[in-house]
Amino acid sequence: MTGLLEEWRRTHYTKNINVNLVNKEIIVMGWVHEIRDLGGIIFVLIRDRDGLIQVTAPSKEIEAELLSQIRKLKKESVVAIKGTIQESSRAPNGVEIIPNTIKVLNEASQPLPMDPTDKVRAEIDTRLDSRFIDLRRANVNSIFKIKSKMLHSTRTFFEENGFLEVNTPKLVASATEGGTELFPITYFEREAFLGQSPQLYKQIMMSGGFDKVYEIAQIFRAEEHDTLRHLNEAISIDMEASFIDDIDAMDTLEKLVNKVIVDVTVDCKDSLKTLDKELLLCECPFERLDYDDAIDMINSKGVEIEWGEDLSRAAEKALGGMMEGYYFLTGWPTEIKPFYVMPNKKHPEKSHAFDLMYKDIEISSGAMRIHQHEMLVEKITEKGLNPDSFDSYLKAFDYGMPPHSGWGLGADRFTMSLTGVNNIRETVLFPRDRRRLTP
Ligand code: ATP
Ligand code: MG
Repeated sequence: MTGLLEEWRRTHYTKNINVNLVNKEIIVMGWVHEIRDLGGIIFVLIRDRDGLIQVTAPSKEIEAELLSQIRKLKKESVVAIKGTIQESSRAPNGVEIIPNTIKVLNEASQPLPMDPTDKVRAEIDTRLDSRFIDLRRANVNSIFKIKSKMLHSTRTFFEENGFLEVNTPKLVASATEGGTELFPITYFEREAFLGQSPQLYKQIMMSGGFDKVYEIAQIFRAEEHDTLRHLNEAISIDMEASFIDDIDAMDTLEKLVNKVIVDVTVDCKDSLKTLDKELLLCECPFERLDYDDAIDMINSKGVEIEWGEDLSRAAEKALGGMMEGYYFLTGWPTEIKPFYVMPNKKHPEKSHAFDLMYKDIEISSGAMRIHQHEMLVEKITEKGLNPDSFDSYLKAFDYGMPPHSGWGLGADRFTMSLTGVNNIRETVLFPRDRRRLTP
């Protein structure tokens, strides 16, 4: 039985076509990237996911019908081309295809909504409106190849280190940390919310005896941000582990970051080159800067900030100007961290919370958590929240909750650091922000 595509199947991606295939017949499938008709000879560049290949049609050697078919090709139409590989010193990869059959699988309408070649620089909004075409550009799809590798490498890291992958609900009854950053939804006859973090669930799993868990999933935040590093839907890489403290959690995080850097460097050479980005390993342990010292450093740059305040954008920028690559900020004031963060025993105004920074952006927050029921109720109350609404969470702390720690790493922000792009929208296929809900 044959299907709709009959015997037509791609034999090679363009990146795998080289001089070893000279005189062989192959089939490529992709998009018409460019056509140059010089009369006596027509050059067509075919693009697939990984690159370009030149199809060369000298009018003397190609039969008239095929030649006229090539002349009629439209930019960005989807084609399959069967042809023979020939060496060519002038072609981009040293080889070209002399066509013998062309099948137009789907013709592209003209004019195109935007130029898919990298020659024209369109505004991000125009690009996102026509994301399907924008994604055809090498520098754009390189970001997603790197993101894909980062996620794969992350999963491998967790699996190799004995973590279980879990899935927690994204439809939730109440806020994780209080505050107003939740999207309300209608849940039958009740109000519910989209989850802003798997925090409370991954903690409950520690009481469930799972020991080491991770989750890679969507988080939703209704903050009305319009910044280059906030979206309303983001991907969080979360981990939680029992019988470890904040120092262990930081160790795990920096090992993960370095593994991802190695894997991306080895497996995404072409993408990094396209983006003109070089990744450097950070020596372990990553620098750990105490919040108190960070405040002094920021003030020394003339940016005013008082002890106890969260870092403003100006403060982050000042700090980023003085720090290289990845570094931890530790010893955060208890007051500005969520209720579940463990305060320091000797100096309860300080906590066992940390942030992982890359230059001037926060890419992860983590902490040792409070595992004692009473202290937790106290902290929830101090934050002006009602312990009753945390009933099903608090119950898990009564019957054998081990000490535990963990972090949440923003996958999109991490991708920014791996690709060098400065707008988080570049790292998300279909970003959701204050103004954008389509495509
Ligand atoms: P920020 O202070 O930068 O707004 P946050 O401290 O509110 O971030 P956390 O609650 O600590 O964020 O979330 C953990 C991680 O998730 C962050 O370090 C970040 O990488 C990512 N993250 C959080 N909110 C967003 C968002 N709105 N868009 C993209 N990533 C986010
Ligand atoms: Mg944070």
